[in-house]
Amino acid sequence: RAKALGKARYCLFNKTMHQIAVSRLRLETDLRRALERQELRLHYQPLVSLKTGEITGFEALVRWEHPEQGLISPDQFIPVAEETGLINPIGWWVLREACLKLRIWQLTFPRKIPLTMSVNLSGKQFAQPGLIEQVDLILRETGCDRNSLKLELTESAIMDHSDANSILENLRALGVKLDIDDFGIGYSSLDRLYQFPINTLKIDKSFVSRLDAGGRNVEIVKAIVTLAHTLGMNVVGEGVESSYQLTQLQALNCEFAQGYFFSRPLDSKATEALLTSQPKWFCQVKTEEKSQL
Ligand code: C2E
Ligand code: MG
Ligand code: MG
Ligand code: MG
Repeated sequence: RAKALGKARYCLFNKTMHQIAVSRLRLETDLRRALERQELRLHYQPLVSLKTGEITGFEALVRWEHPEQGLISPDQFIPVAEETGLINPIGWWVLREACLKLRIWQLTFPRKIPLTMSVNLSGKQFAQPGLIEQVDLILRETGCDRNSLKLELTESAIMDHSDANSILENLRALGVKLDIDDFGIGYSSLDRLYQFPINTLKIDKSFVSRLDAGGRNVEIVKAIVTLAHTLGMNVVGEGVESSYQLTQLQALNCEFAQGYFFSRPLDSKATEALLTSQPKWFCQVKTEEKSQL
């Protein structure tokens, strides 16, 4: 009986492995066609100033509108895209699309400080030869305002690369800004971080969500903000979901925030609607700022 059970379990395990392998292969094949079939979409999540309560820009986040499976999140296909090298054509599509939107939105929604657009670059893209030329080409072809474009890189993407500093310098020379994404969960050499021409640290959402627990979590965020300011960088708090977290970040002198509390990532149409309305959080952010003075 034990043997039969063991066999059954083995088959079950095997079947699951097989299913995973098959669905993985399907995903890869479908992903190859996704670009030509124009199934990729960008959603946009606002970045909010904690000083003024205003939307200062957006982060472009890719989604895949699969004909059968519906909207697929980037966590499900970016890793596959990285392994297969498809991240390059996908990444360039994202950058081009985001630059075009940036240009249109800056014209449609003029501000004293023009709206910014943040685009994620994967480690593979960062390490690709010809990166600088490709970014420059897209900037020229789309005619977007280079100073308003922010490229997001993770700590590991940068730290894994021996020649990171010169690549970063060359990117900055194009006029774009550089942000470190998910800061705090990777391994950064503080010495190298100090040398890198980085504009902004984005505090990983795991730290922001733990602000509710108080204690050492508050101290960690405080330390990151101090580090950033010492190095002449701005700070974005990622993944803000509550007004308590918002208040904490304001008290800790964090400049910007992003998260479901303000808005989920929205499609282009909903983003435009958001830009023409007075968001409900606006007064709250302003009040919190005043109450600190
Ligand atoms: P990320 O760059 O750190 O983007 C933030 C992620 O956190 C987004 O997930 C966003 O929807 C989510 N998020 C924002 N606010 C909240 C919140 O308040 N609570 C929670 N729980 N989550 C929040 P998304 O869109 O699923 O993207 C996941 C990751 O996929 C991104 O993390 C980024 O690393 C990657 N990604 C997305 N688009 C691209 C792209 O075009 N290229 C590359 N290379 N990676 C991308
Ligand atoms: Mg990001
Ligand atoms: Mg992030
Ligand atoms: Mg991430």
